[in-house]
Amino acid sequence: MRDGPMTTEIGTQSPALPLKRRFKIIRRKTNGQTDWRFWSQVFWVGICVWIGWEFWRFVRFYESGAAGLPPDRPAGAEAFLPISGLLGLRDWIINGVLNHIHPAATIVLGLALVSSVVLKKSFCGWVCPIGFTSESVGAAGRKIHHWKGQLPKALDLPLRGIKYLLLAFFVWAIFMQMSPQALAAFIGSPYNKVADIKMLKFFTEMDAQSLWIILGLVVMGFVVNGFWCRFLCPYGALAGLASFLSPFKITRTASACIDCNKCNVACPAHIPVMQLKRVRSDECNACMECVDVCPSAEALNLSLPKNYARISRVGALIAVTGIFVVGIGLAQLTGHWQTSITSEEYARRIPHINDPAYYHNQGTVPEYSPED
Ligand code: SF4
Ligand code: SF4
Repeated sequence: MRDGPMTTEIGTQSPALPLKRRFKIIRRKTNGQTDWRFWSQVFWVGICVWIGWEFWRFVRFYESGAAGLPPDRPAGAEAFLPISGLLGLRDWIINGVLNHIHPAATIVLGLALVSSVVLKKSFCGWVCPIGFTSESVGAAGRKIHHWKGQLPKALDLPLRGIKYLLLAFFVWAIFMQMSPQALAAFIGSPYNKVADIKMLKFFTEMDAQSLWIILGLVVMGFVVNGFWCRFLCPYGALAGLASFLSPFKITRTASACIDCNKCNVACPAHIPVMQLKRVRSDECNACMECVDVCPSAEALNLSLPKNYARISRVGALIAVTGIFVVGIGLAQLTGHWQTSITSEEYARRIPHINDPAYYHNQGTVPEYSPED
């Protein structure tokens, strides 16, 4: 849906229509709203760093002989098991109950979906620590190379499809290839039980190949804005699909718009906001950078259709944080957050985590027996 004068290139200044000058433009006051998103991201990065530290202490305790009182295992570590979250989602759909091996993985995935259905891809823009890192790397790169980091459309469009292909692969493998029995066997397998510890080891004992891949992604993120999130993240792809359902979208009031092009230039997702009435794009993460730079107070809003129920940055912060805090709080209160794996079981498994019993080969795991 297009409205207003067209531009052929983002960043191109378009001439303002004389008719628009009849409207009184109210200057938007600078109110520090940008900082709310930044502090939300810093808050969640802080939570993740704390979880990482606590989880490392937990694993080290069992690796070093388990003497004394065991530290608590932070269940939030499972937020970094998106595949386990997807397995848990299917298991929940089949059986109507949340699996008790990695329940937090499914809860976090569910909350990311809920936040996307409510407020575009706000999980990516306000919560995800990888999103924040990706943004920060891109911003650092722009300071050095002074380029917007936007690939030509002919390259950008097919590359954006990669994350959907990756998502399609995981959905196909988990929802179409696995029988309910195979799913139950995988969830209860020794491999899945220590998948969170394997994930920690990936970072703490990274091999040279993984390090080079991560360095390559950082370099690409330095050059191309949001490289990982825009092209490769299947979690973001899922959030993007869910975000089509969001009733809240960036809404442009053409009569108040002075066609200054600032929103187009500011949008980190390279969305041509100035040419749209409603931003439906799966790349919009409700960052509200476009709203913030818009000089006309009435032109851009994050709102329901027809500009009903406009949301400020503080409102977005409360909504997104509220979804996660309330969701996690309810999961804790109802006993759907902590794993059922006992300290004794961890003490038995962690010292042997490199044994073949804890391998998996393209989705197949070693035989599972109830004693495992
Ligand atoms: S700048 Fe506006 S249109 Fe672009 S991603 Fe952020 S909220 Fe969406
Ligand atoms: S920044 Fe605001 S006034 Fe300028 S083009 Fe975008 S919507 Fe219109």
